[in-house]
Amino acid sequence: MHNHPSIILKQARLKVTPARQAIIDLFSEPCGPLSAEDSYKKLKSKKINQVTVYRTLASLEQKGILRRVELRQDSVHYELASHHHHHIVCTECGRLEDFKLCTADMLSKKILNRSKTFTGITGHSLEFFGVCKSCIKR
Ligand SMILES: [Zn+2]
Ligand SMILES: [Zn+2]
Ligand SMILES: [Zn+2]
Repeated sequence: MHNHPSIILKQARLKVTPARQAIIDLFSEPCGPLSAEDSYKKLKSKKINQVTVYRTLASLEQKGILRRVELRQDSVHYELASHHHHHIVCTECGRLEDFKLCTADMLSKKILNRSKTFTGITGHSLEFFGVCKSCIKR
């Protein structure tokens, strides 16, 4: 179930603009994490300029609507933050698999117990790397 972009924006107290709506729509499609360049290319038909795409991604990340995904590639990738999951990424071909299992809450408590500086954790990102079956055959 996906929330309508305008509802997501209103909940985050962001003004509903065509660019923001188009970007949330784009990320609501099941296409995996996208970089700023990917997003710009896919939105070309909507005539949204590159600067707007970059700025919008940054502001949506800041509001917690998008999250960064570390894929060990040159560019930053994003995906919707609302469907909490993690990835296994192939270091050879970049293939990516989602998984829902998350034990980070348990780990957060242990980290906080040992921390002298932090009193709370607001989020985490956790990606796993390996070699996929088709790359291992090569
Ligand atoms: Zn692979
Ligand atoms: Zn994902
Ligand atoms: Zn998690």
